[in-house]
Amino acid sequence: MAGAAAYRKWGLKPLPEAPAPPATKPVRGKPGEVPVISDIPTKEKVVFVTFDDGAEKDPKFVEMMRELRIPFTMFLTDAAISSDKGYFKPLQQLGNAIQNHTLTHPNMRTESGSQQQHQICGQQEKLAKEYGKAPRLFRPPYGNWNEGTRAAAKACGVQAIVLWRESMQIQNMQYQRGDKKLHPGDIILAHFRGRSELKGHTMTEMTANMLRHIQEQGFAVARLEDYV
Ligand SMILES: [Zn+2]
Repeated sequence: MAGAAAYRKWGLKPLPEAPAPPATKPVRGKPGEVPVISDIPTKEKVVFVTFDDGAEKDPKFVEMMRELRIPFTMFLTDAAISSDKGYFKPLQQLGNAIQNHTLTHPNMRTESGSQQQHQICGQQEKLAKEYGKAPRLFRPPYGNWNEGTRAAAKACGVQAIVLWRESMQIQNMQYQRGDKKLHPGDIILAHFRGRSELKGHTMTEMTANMLRHIQEQGFAVARLEDYV
């Protein structure tokens, strides 16, 4: 848990401390089926932060996360990270998991079953080789999936397909629900994006904006892998 000074440095007020992880993970699929989730069933005032793709590799973001110790999950695409896979290792060493977001970021709905399996299994193998651990979770690009995606995920050893409830833009959070509020257990999507995609803003500015929205609504950030 970071101190107030660390939060202040990044222009933030301290977030509430996350509760202890649940003794039993609340996400469970039907036997033999890979569950597809956008949020976690919990009454605790926690949300989950995820960063996708891996195109931007901003050293300041590593510094920010080292200081703030916010738990997050990385869903990485091979084509986006291949220029510098080492960038993600210090983030992983902070305790954050690297999960699967395909080899080349296709729309899975337009891929055949065997193509989908190649996209998922291929990235399982590459990530396991590079980061020493095979992913347990898969996020389909654009949130697009079908039953073929589920079958492929299962064949590749994935335990859950993870979508999201909120999507972080540059300043604002995009909510799926009409009340435009965070709810307990929501999964938030953000991206490894830099100035070119953020209209001149940096990844750390975008991240600070996201954490501000979470703090203002009184939520703590918990670790997704403790719940699924
Ligand atoms: Zn993506």
